[in-house]
Amino acid sequence: MLLTVKLKLILDKEQQALLLEFMEQFNEACNFVSAEAFNSMNWNRIKLQKQCYYGVRSNFGLSAQTSILVIRKVADTYQSDIENIRIRNMRRPGYQFKEELRQHDFKKRGAVQYDARCMSWKGNGRVSLLTLRGRIIVTFVLSGKYANIDLSHVRSESDLIYQNKIFYLAVKYDVEEAEVITQSDFIGVDFGIKNIVATSDGKLFCGDECERVRKYYVDLRRRYQKIGTKSAKRHLARLSNREHNYKSNENHRISKDLVSEAKGTGRGLAIEDLTYIPRQRTAKEAQDATSKWAFRQLREFIEYKAKLSGIPVVQVNPTFTSQRCSICGYTDKLNRRTQSSFVCLACSYEENADVNAAINIKQRAAISQPIVVRHATEA
Ligand SMILES: [Zn+2]
Repeated sequence: MLLTVKLKLILDKEQQALLLEFMEQFNEACNFVSAEAFNSMNWNRIKLQKQCYYGVRSNFGLSAQTSILVIRKVADTYQSDIENIRIRNMRRPGYQFKEELRQHDFKKRGAVQYDARCMSWKGNGRVSLLTLRGRIIVTFVLSGKYANIDLSHVRSESDLIYQNKIFYLAVKYDVEEAEVITQSDFIGVDFGIKNIVATSDGKLFCGDECERVRKYYVDLRRRYQKIGTKSAKRHLARLSNREHNYKSNENHRISKDLVSEAKGTGRGLAIEDLTYIPRQRTAKEAQDATSKWAFRQLREFIEYKAKLSGIPVVQVNPTFTSQRCSICGYTDKLNRRTQSSFVCLACSYEENADVNAAINIKQRAAISQPIVVRHATEA
């Protein structure tokens, strides 16, 4: 399985300027190709290369390989834009993605792709990177839990990214997957709004505490947006970074806990299959897109951590899991009295509503095995 690691680059002023210049040129070229691709509705890598290669080379002074990487980035971006539109509208018959597709605008300082032809590892924590003015050799540092990774497993395809005035190289490296043990018993995992995660064991993650922090950020954001000055915008950017880090830390904590619980008790994990989630719910979540929880990230974290530990992750159809009684099976909207309490109208079983849903997910996983066993797709 491929994992991504961020290497922090240690640069002098001149190197920093060279990489910035290269990055801006790369993205400007992306925007040129993006206009061509959008106008001709062409996002096939090969066809787009035929169409734009000479234009990119002559207008932007990029090397042959970098020009190809620019075109590839644009083609891949359109393909994923289209994929996202399709997923959002999968329940609307006759829907054409072209109704929603817009010309993709690449950020001035968006990620730059490198591959073996424009970068190479030089040993001793150094890497050679292509710029508009030839190659430069720069130093990088590995920190935290990545300090001991074996760089011989690192691939050359990397993204150069620029965050808070620091350059990073996001590199992919191969890790061996643990052998997946087949399981018939699962921990059911329900993703929710009140509790980010509830399990069939009755464990709740990120309830009131997360909600307080989430609201705190929503309020602050509103206040800064109202002010609207330049300095407020700066605060806003810093705020969204902090919020992102907070959510990402929580997601790491939750996913780690779930996977180690599964491993320690010899069970698999059962989660909701997102393709079943109705359009209304996603639309509602999208209304306040910036304040919603990063569920997609949480699922990815669970899936890759499970994969590393050989824990099977089963995705089940979540329809009615919040309305169905996990004891007697009676299904009724009225079983769920409030957001948090479930009381079965048939057998009077009482439970936290999210926990009841998680138990239903667990039961479905046990029944639907082994047909629905799926694993995270390769990064
Ligand atoms: Zn019941």
